[in-house]
Amino acid sequence: MLSKRSIRAFVGALAMALAMVGVQFAAQSPAAADPSVQARTVYYTAYAYSSQSSQAASIWNSAAPNVRMVSSSNGSIRIYGTTGGGSRAYVCGLGCATIYIDSRDIAAGHNALRIVAHEIGHGLGLPDTYNGICSYLMSGGSAGTSCSNPYPNAGEASRVNNLFRSALTSQVGPFVSDVYDPSLVRATV
Ligand SMILES: [Zn+2]
Repeated sequence: MLSKRSIRAFVGALAMALAMVGVQFAAQSPAAADPSVQARTVYYTAYAYSSQSSQAASIWNSAAPNVRMVSSSNGSIRIYGTTGGGSRAYVCGLGCATIYIDSRDIAAGHNALRIVAHEIGHGLGLPDTYNGICSYLMSGGSAGTSCSNPYPNAGEASRVNNLFRSALTSQVGPFVSDVYDPSLVRATV
């Protein structure tokens, strides 16, 4: 039989063990949670078209939950305004791109939010499709000026989501350059 003294000693040891476990949990939990949260965060900086950039970030965050786009003063996705040359993205990796939104695309009737969401799509790993279908965000200017859809379709969203689930540090590309509406660029050159 256990004496009162040995029970007291056992309870004391048990309490100490639990306290140590508690300390370990306290020390490990935040560290364990950080990598996944950090890795999924893509910081963006909108030097122009900030309203559309914010809306496009929300669209992507909803469509692809593994990505969390957050506005920052020093983002890896940078969005600039320009005039001429076409709206385009220069991709430097997954979650990394320098984007130019061409005011001439918008003047020609293309939807600004769709353009921004499309160019961000390149920064999140998607190529162009240019198939003329408006339900594809990555059909870009090929869908015509009547298409104002700023949402990725299910396939596009799932492709981005999978990229960010499995390959958080992988690179997309070599560098990719694209033009939202090549026909417009030719027309203005
Ligand atoms: Zn494109």
